[in-house]
Formats: sequence, C-alpha cells, structure tokens
Amino acid sequence: MIMNLQQFAKVSLGFFPTPLVELPRLSKALGGPKIFMKRDDQTGLALGGNKTRKLEYLLGDAIKQGSDAIITAGAAQSNHCRQTAAAAAKLGMACHLVLGGEEPAQPTGNLLLDRIFGSHIHWAGDHRKGEDILELYDRLKACGKNPYHVPYGGSNELGALAFAEAAKELDEQCHDLSFTHIIFASSSGGTHAGLMLGKQAYGKTHQVVGIRIDKEETGEMSFDRQVLSLANRAATLAGLNHEFGAEDIILNEHYLGAGYGVMGALEEEAIAITARTEGILLDPVYTGRAMGGLFDMVRSGELVQGDRVLFWHTGGTPALFAD
Ligand SMILES: *Cc1c(COP(=O)(O)O)cnc(C)c1O
Repeated sequence: MIMNLQQFAKVSLGFFPTPLVELPRLSKALGGPKIFMKRDDQTGLALGGNKTRKLEYLLGDAIKQGSDAIITAGAAQSNHCRQTAAAAAKLGMACHLVLGGEEPAQPTGNLLLDRIFGSHIHWAGDHRKGEDILELYDRLKACGKNPYHVPYGGSNELGALAFAEAAKELDEQCHDLSFTHIIFASSSGGTHAGLMLGKQAYGKTHQVVGIRIDKEETGEMSFDRQVLSLANRAATLAGLNHEFGAEDIILNEHYLGAGYGVMGALEEEAIAITARTEGILLDPVYTGRAMGGLFDMVRSGELVQGDRVLFWHTGGTPALFAD
C-alpha cells in the first residue's frame, strides 16, 4: 500500500534517521527476548524526543498558513511543550504554552528549558488539558497575531502521519532485521496511531504495543477508541484505503501505577537497570514506565526467548532533572 506523505508541508527540525541499536546487556540481564531500541531521545531538537517528528509536520503546516505564533498546552514538565518552544524559536515564531497547575517557586527540568527558549507561559491551574487555549487564541488574534494551535501532545492527523513516516524510517534501517513487537509509551495517541498506520502501510507483522501512561480520560471516548479514531482519520488523510477496527489496537493498561507522573518501583527499577546495563537514560514519566512494563512482560512470560522486541525510546530525559 502506498502512502503519499510528500503532499504535506514539512519543516526540518531534527536529525533523522535516529539510531537503531541492539541492547545485548539489557537482553542478557532480563534473560528473555532480544531487545533493540529506536533512539528518538536523539532526535536532536532541544534534548530530543518523539514530538520533534510531529512538529516537523505541524509547524510545516503553521508556516504554510502564515502563522507567527504557536500555542500549545501540557503539564508543567511537558516534553511536548519544551520541544515546541525550541522549534518555534528556531523558526522565529512566538510560542505560548498553557501549562497545568501553578507556577512553581523554582523552574526545573523541562520548565526551565521552556523559559530559556523564551516561550510565554500561561498557568492554567486545574485546566490541565488545554481548556484555555481558545480564549488565548482569540486574544492573540485581537492583537493582530496569526496564531496556530498545536494540539495536546501534537496528536492530530498530521502528528500521527509523522509516526507513520517513522515506521518507514525504521523499515529502511532494519534491512534483514524484523521484530515481533514494538513497545512504547502511549499518552496522547499520535505515536500509537502512526505506528499502527505504518505497520499497515508497509505490510509488517510485528505487534504494535502501546503501554498506557495516563489513566485519566480526556474526552468522551475511551483512550483506545481515541487512538483508533486518530489512526482512521490519519489513514484517510494519507489516502490509505484501510479501516482499523478494535481488534487492531493493543493497549496495555497494567502499568498506570499511582497515576500520571508519579514514579514508583516499576519506573525506578527500569531506569536503573537500563542505565547500568546499557548506559542509556530513560525518563521517570513515560519511557521508565513503558520499559518497566516491558520488564514485567518478560518476567510474566508474555515476551519470550526468540521474540525480537523493539523498544521505541520516545525521549523525556529532561524530566529526570525536575523536582
Ligand atoms: C509525549 C510523549 C510520549 C507519548 O507520545 P504520544 O504520541 O503523546 O502518545 C511518550 N514519551 C515521551 C517522552 C513523551 O514526551
């Protein structure tokens, strides 16, 4: 099946392809399948992460529409907001971030970086998922600006297409390698939807296994339904004649712990063992939890010897330096 991504405006923000590496010492320590890693923590924009891929398409669209200001939303330690702030700076656009919660006394981690990139920060209190964006949009319009709204986590059809393209990048990098599973942290759904699309478009057989990170529902639909809907809308946009059904989505919800951003023993162990066997840093919110899930899936026999598992490192390491 052919997906035409050339038709979309895209701006270069990172360094691609990101490295694909084997993790022999981690594989040995766990004693199960061979584990590989796609290093999207090395996308090169402002300490990296998966949002760089999405922003290449989203900000490409913003430029096409003549925008001069970007608005997006997230948590105080949002990796998405940090990368958006850096991308806007690089493109000479203003960046407005609507962050949940209250301003902390000391900015740390991603928030410190948001400030260094010169973004305008609006504290939204309990409105943690961008509820105040419309009002800000109207205010900027009234000041003669031409704002562009980047959705929460960069997860709309364009953001998802960026990850379908990432699947192609992986495919071209693999040569004779093939994987039984691709495992990653799934939170706003764009990565998940895009990898589903890529699997379909390039005829792969691996399982696309999202580890759910945030147990709060954000809309009317359950999270798996949202991912499914996004995958279908992105397929339509890319001219891919395929309808995904409920049977196509794999979302593992066993590792939600005490909620979003609360580090527990699962994350702590995954971060320590990955660091001490491979010299690779994971983050406390997303990749630490997803890798902890992978460890558990090996120990419970869900992943077995003979499997070839790709862990997609989606970034987030600046949060290691957050309070
Ligand atoms: C945003 C993010 C994710 C989740 O990706 P989605 O496309 O939002 O599901 C995973 N890991 C890190 C580090 C992130 O910043």
